[in-house]
Amino acid sequence: MRSLERPKRVAKGSSKRETRTPFELGGTSIAAGTSATVNLPISRLSTHTEVTMPVRVLHGAKPGPTLFVSAAIHGDEIIGVEMIRRLLKNLSIKRLRGTLLCVPVVNAFGFIAQSRYLPDRRDLNRVFPGSARGSLAAQLAHVFTTEIIARSDFGIDLHSAGMNRENLPQIRYSPGNEKASELADVFGAPAIVTSPLRDGSLRQTADNNGCTMLLMESGEALRFDEFAIRIGVRGILRVMEHLDMGCRKQPAAAAASVRSDGSRWVRAEEGGIFRAMRKTGDMVEEGEQVGAISDPFGDVEIEVLSPLSGLIIGRSVMPVVNQGDALMHIARVSRPGTADDRLNKIEEAAIDDPLFDEDEIM
Ligand SMILES: [Zn+2]
Repeated sequence: MRSLERPKRVAKGSSKRETRTPFELGGTSIAAGTSATVNLPISRLSTHTEVTMPVRVLHGAKPGPTLFVSAAIHGDEIIGVEMIRRLLKNLSIKRLRGTLLCVPVVNAFGFIAQSRYLPDRRDLNRVFPGSARGSLAAQLAHVFTTEIIARSDFGIDLHSAGMNRENLPQIRYSPGNEKASELADVFGAPAIVTSPLRDGSLRQTADNNGCTMLLMESGEALRFDEFAIRIGVRGILRVMEHLDMGCRKQPAAAAASVRSDGSRWVRAEEGGIFRAMRKTGDMVEEGEQVGAISDPFGDVEIEVLSPLSGLIIGRSVMPVVNQGDALMHIARVSRPGTADDRLNKIEEAAIDDPLFDEDEIM
């Protein structure tokens, strides 16, 4: 690992809590050295039942940065909910410096319906920063922007792959953001991929608000994945330690993450039955066969070849495919020579991590 400088705790403005006055959120005042759950009102369902965004605020006694950790912006991407549960078990409010805002279920509507979207089929991660008088999605984004992003110095947003896909645990950040790059290295996920900002994304709004954000991708929609959860929890703790937020000493990452500055999807040339021959986390060569598409009798077989050398960071887990479907997501890798070795070390360290002895999900 390269050596990383600890950030200076610099006063940034009255809303950033550099003084230990109480933290005010949604009409609740959280005293320094205490924690509380605040339910931010969002709307009412058609049944007139109230929908809120629950936020656990940990407001440390000592000054430090404000960090948000969020999950389920896409309602079916539930893996981050478990990461936040385990994170909270591993933190002590007594030691905490700065303020931690945990938002395990940003999109309650999608979470309840086990859907990526809001009831009007809008994608919450395309309507940021939102508006107080816009669509339901825009109003929800507005609450998150004003109550969470605008008050945070740093953020970690937890995602999984979409339906019928899986992702290798990986950190994404905006190209050119040096602070995010440093935190991505500290996190210690198997892969780091720089990816351009998308219009209307939470990440773009964080960028515009001077909030340094990492996005974690890992696992499948509607599923837990023990390996990915371990990588995520340990990574968040490492980032908090690096930001001097009063965490216990964290073990450094077992190896440097495999870095990539771009990726490509391999798509189905024709419809048929897809068999993957390589898995996420595998390194592949340009022109190497990564799968096959056949007809149901096996009479016709089309080889699926990798168009580039790199790391498989995502793939479809759905064998029934139409022409043009995305099959394998392959990231270009800058140091391919040592990548296999580093990926193995990171995987072994996560399997042996003593932090999770009591928590393992089968
Ligand atoms: Zn997502």
